[in-house]
Amino acid sequence: MEQVLLLNITYEPLKIINWKKAVTMLFLGKVEVIEEYNETVRSVSFTLRLPSVVRLLRMVKKPRGAVRFSRQNIYSRDRYQCQYCGSRFSTEELTYDHVIPKSRGGKTRWENIVTCCVECNRKKGGRTPAEASMSLIREPSRPDWVPALRITIGFQRIPETWRDYIYWNVELIE
Ligand SMILES: [Zn+2]
Repeated sequence: MEQVLLLNITYEPLKIINWKKAVTMLFLGKVEVIEEYNETVRSVSFTLRLPSVVRLLRMVKKPRGAVRFSRQNIYSRDRYQCQYCGSRFSTEELTYDHVIPKSRGGKTRWENIVTCCVECNRKKGGRTPAEASMSLIREPSRPDWVPALRITIGFQRIPETWRDYIYWNVELIE
């Protein structure tokens, strides 16, 4: 049966649930539908496009554990979105930027590192955002979720509609 990817309110993938569970959560107002399959589900009382990706409307705290400070997790926190121009990129096209440059005493830590595309990184150079007239989409902070989700599913079996949400931050099994 069709499976549904459950995202946290942060768009972080949490787990895979079956469609009945997803529909129940939808009717309880716990989730919103982000992506749908082409199929519909019918019951006596409703007809509905089958959800393929749903997002929780309230934050679910995952088991605590320090989030490793890594390039991958910085990209994940920033949703693979350049924090200056707002465009989304694949890992190869991203880098990270010290908001306050290292040469000015900026530290390499969650609060001073943002995901950045190569072009914006070049444009900003060794300047502060104010000096470069570039503003941040989101102030960087230490994430309180655990971003890495292990889904043991063959890549070919992943629904197309999931790929935007899991392709770059889930460990996939070939
Ligand atoms: Zn950019």
